[in-house]
Amino acid sequence: MTSETIRVRFPPSPTGYLHVGGARTALFNWLLARQRSGVLVLRIEDTDRDRSSEAHTRAILDGMTWLGLDWDEGPFFQSDGVERHRAAALRLLDDGRAYHDFSDPGELREEAARRGVGHPSAIAREWADATGVDAARERAAAGEPHAIRLRIPAGETAWDDAVHGRMSFANRDLDDFVILRSDGSPIYNLAVVCDDAEQRITHVIRGDDHLSNTPKQILLYEALGWPVPTFGHVPMILGPDGKRLSKRHGATAVADYEAHGILPDAMVNFLALLGWNPGDEREVMDRAELIEAFSMDRVQKKSAVFDTDKLEWLNGRYVAGLPLAALVPSALDRLEARGLGPDRWDPEAPGPEDEGFGALLQLLQSRARTIEDLAEQAEPFLVAEPELEAAATRKHWARDPAATAEGLRALWAALDAGSWEEEPLEVRLRACAEERGVGAGKVIHPLRVALTGRTRSPGIFEVLAWLGRDRAERRVRRALSILEEPDVFLS
Ligand code: GLU
Repeated sequence: MTSETIRVRFPPSPTGYLHVGGARTALFNWLLARQRSGVLVLRIEDTDRDRSSEAHTRAILDGMTWLGLDWDEGPFFQSDGVERHRAAALRLLDDGRAYHDFSDPGELREEAARRGVGHPSAIAREWADATGVDAARERAAAGEPHAIRLRIPAGETAWDDAVHGRMSFANRDLDDFVILRSDGSPIYNLAVVCDDAEQRITHVIRGDDHLSNTPKQILLYEALGWPVPTFGHVPMILGPDGKRLSKRHGATAVADYEAHGILPDAMVNFLALLGWNPGDEREVMDRAELIEAFSMDRVQKKSAVFDTDKLEWLNGRYVAGLPLAALVPSALDRLEARGLGPDRWDPEAPGPEDEGFGALLQLLQSRARTIEDLAEQAEPFLVAEPELEAAATRKHWARDPAATAEGLRALWAALDAGSWEEEPLEVRLRACAEERGVGAGKVIHPLRVALTGRTRSPGIFEVLAWLGRDRAERRVRRALSILEEPDVFLS
């Protein structure tokens, strides 16, 4: 690639939310622009009036903003350029590179079928030639409805795709396609070419579902005498079953991941690896590293698979690295969404403003994959009485409730008999287990259920220290009262 300023674009159609596939395409363009001090143009392709809406435009811009993909020019609206698109079609007509088609499509198809001609447009061309340019102009001027078709030259249309390498299509396989419909509206390929040329786009990087549009667009550039940009077609994104990613696979909107507690940096990192890799083992890469390492040479041809598990794993890495100042507000948000507001918050627990709350989040952050997950793990620590998960009581309490109660009572006596810090607590717990002739796990598991209601939590000594003696005691006493009346509580 040369040192010209690259100008790339992201041109979503506002007919839906920002889909992860669109976001990935936007990201690749953004990475190229940022790496090469280029320009990213945002263009809203809103010519499909019935399906486009302002709400979708807003959702797409919000998605881009949330991901931190800033654009340098725009948003431009394709519909603002209709006169310009139409003028280009009329110029092609004047130059003899396009022709009037007065037929109706049914008529063309019938005639093509009758004569065994593959492309109905061959008939349209024949009729146009028979009519002649002057007569066609007169009929058009008199208001006779007509479309305008591009006259495709013989030969082939080829380009060096930045992903797929040399691509070529025989022109005879391409129709003399319509560029202006009989209602005067430009078709998509014409509008895109006019806008890309107007916005001086140097690199068109888009999904490979557009591969079949590219020869048509190149023919339009050539017919209009405009420089042809570099094209690169990035692979589709598939679900784990190998089918094109769709709602069947779960969330496809970027906003759904935001709602699910995925962090924008993690999403960007994940999307970058959908169809691209840095050529080494790195997987966790921040924006600066991605900008530095990105290259179209390493974009793969084959489809990429959307692996939610990997997204959550990556997100966990970003959650673990979040500074407290960012962690606190997002965790509070999630807790609130889970219904843990002031009314359910244990008045004895540290409040949202207290240092202890931050300390809890820090205890959990390396164990959480999402902020949602973090909130879920924080909940038993913040309410007065943690919910006892059936799986936990069944596994660690129910086999012999009386013996469990006896062990827990002895353990509590040992824990309570000294200073309330992690190390001495550990020493006393281990001594107690030894005295009872059991492994430490045997006493830790029932205690963990008593303190958190769960089978998994941070280290038991960290949990004890964080809860403090009084709150820990209350939880152990509650456990004992349940274990003493197991028929009522444990099934
Ligand atoms: N509006 C088109 C789409 O959303 C963009 C096509 C292109 O990048 O040329 O698929």
